[in-house]
Amino acid sequence: MEKIDILRLMRDNIRSLDPYSTARDEYQGELGILLDANESPYGEGLNRYPSTALRSELLGRLEAIKGIPSGALFLGNGSDECIDLCYRVFCRPGMDNAVMISPSYGMYKVCADVNDIEARQVLLGEDFSIQTDDLLAASDSNSRLLFICSPNNPTANSFPESQIRTLLENFPGMVVLDEAYADFSARGSLKKLLAEYPNLIILQTLSKAWGMAGLRLGIALADPQVVTIFNRVRYPYNIGTDTLRLALDLLPAADLKAKVAEILKERGRMREALSKLPCLSEILPSDANFFLVRTASPRKLYDFLLARGIIVRDRSKSPLCGPALRITVGTPEENDRLIKAITEYDSVQSTIC
Ligand code: PMP
Repeated sequence: MEKIDILRLMRDNIRSLDPYSTARDEYQGELGILLDANESPYGEGLNRYPSTALRSELLGRLEAIKGIPSGALFLGNGSDECIDLCYRVFCRPGMDNAVMISPSYGMYKVCADVNDIEARQVLLGEDFSIQTDDLLAASDSNSRLLFICSPNNPTANSFPESQIRTLLENFPGMVVLDEAYADFSARGSLKKLLAEYPNLIILQTLSKAWGMAGLRLGIALADPQVVTIFNRVRYPYNIGTDTLRLALDLLPAADLKAKVAEILKERGRMREALSKLPCLSEILPSDANFFLVRTASPRKLYDFLLARGIIVRDRSKSPLCGPALRITVGTPEENDRLIKAITEYDSVQSTIC
């Protein structure tokens, strides 16, 4: 396929958008007396809109951590904002469509619905493998986005690089690869593909391995032309001052490698313990920080755990998942409590039988 023209894929009104220019964007140099943004002059710093310098500092720090050239990283209010921006930038409401794997993260479809874009959900195989032919067969000249999540939520498996390449080379629009869980994956990130494919957008987040879900910081790695347009379309101050400051403070101490190692160790220990429990018929392989487990009556087990203060996610209504619960790997103590509670459930079940 000839090289895709990503500017042509953007909506005309977005490509030609005259963006809002903030008071602070228009000013350069030392901050003096600020009478430009109708803020209150009273307060402890939060009376002021977030500074462009603080945002740039965090961007620079993240670009360095990710090994991404300047201008190729977008900072969103969670990667949920990045997903929504993909629709707003590339898809014409009522006309275009987005292709996505199923089951997968629910926001791809919700954002499609909000933006009046047809969501074409294409089933994975029974073994949760990606069906490249089916995904390409579901696309047409109005397909602007293809969402792939790897490792996938809720199935916890990753997809091979060769298949992602096939999709990047043959899909007629932008391919959005959501790597929210890539820090837990043996395969790691596919960000090296950005240099080869301008139609690739990689989503990452500080909400998972980085342990900052409460901050709401998501990342899109993409061609600088896409990043520029995302910055024009986003709300002027999408990341607040406190969030920027906290992220800058927390990043150096986050100790990502040690935390990930601990979670992976627990993942192995949980797999072993859970596989011995008779009520769990299957513990599906995981390349992420959660498991999908199959059990005869997921709702019953869910309620049993809930009554003991343990909350898991019932995924039995998701396509292909079967009677399944999704369980996140917690701290060793939390995991012990879960294993103990399911053991109790098993003994209650055998008494009933
Ligand atoms: N992508 C996937 C695959 C997710 O599972 C989630 C949240 N569970 C998100 C994105 C949302 O991430 P954020 O907190 O950065 O909005």
